[in-house]
Amino acid sequence: MSSEKNKNLCEGCTICCEHITVEIDKPKTREEILKLVDYLRYKDILIFIEDGGEWNIEFKTICRQLNEKGLCKIYKNRPKICRDYHHDKCERYGEGEFYKHIFRNEKELLDFIKKNKKLNKIFLGQ
Ligand code: SF4
Ligand code: SF4
Repeated sequence: MSSEKNKNLCEGCTICCEHITVEIDKPKTREEILKLVDYLRYKDILIFIEDGGEWNIEFKTICRQLNEKGLCKIYKNRPKICRDYHHDKCERYGEGEFYKHIFRNEKELLDFIKKNKKLNKIFLGQ
């Protein structure tokens, strides 16, 4: 897709420039579960699991390169991570949810752990 077309598709939307997502390991020990629970005590942090089972942590934070008109100040030289992102999976154009499970606070994650046999066993140290 041309750079110009790509730019116009995002017009009026800045969702992708307002968070950072990092893939994380699925927790395998009680300590790892508790670490994720602790992360979720902070505002503007969420954890989600994709359809393929990948775990991710997302930090809501605005890129310094986003200008007051909602455009990228360095569009032609934007980072690879921004270049590689495809609209077909994005929150505006993608079909369905981008996650299978989402945890916006520690309670949501703990409730999920309790319902998941394998993770609950790990959590209870069994
Ligand atoms: S959600 Fe889609 S339209 Fe919005 S900024 Fe991201 S890629 Fe562009
Ligand atoms: S560099 Fe530009 S395209 Fe990438 S997140 Fe920042 S404002 Fe958005």
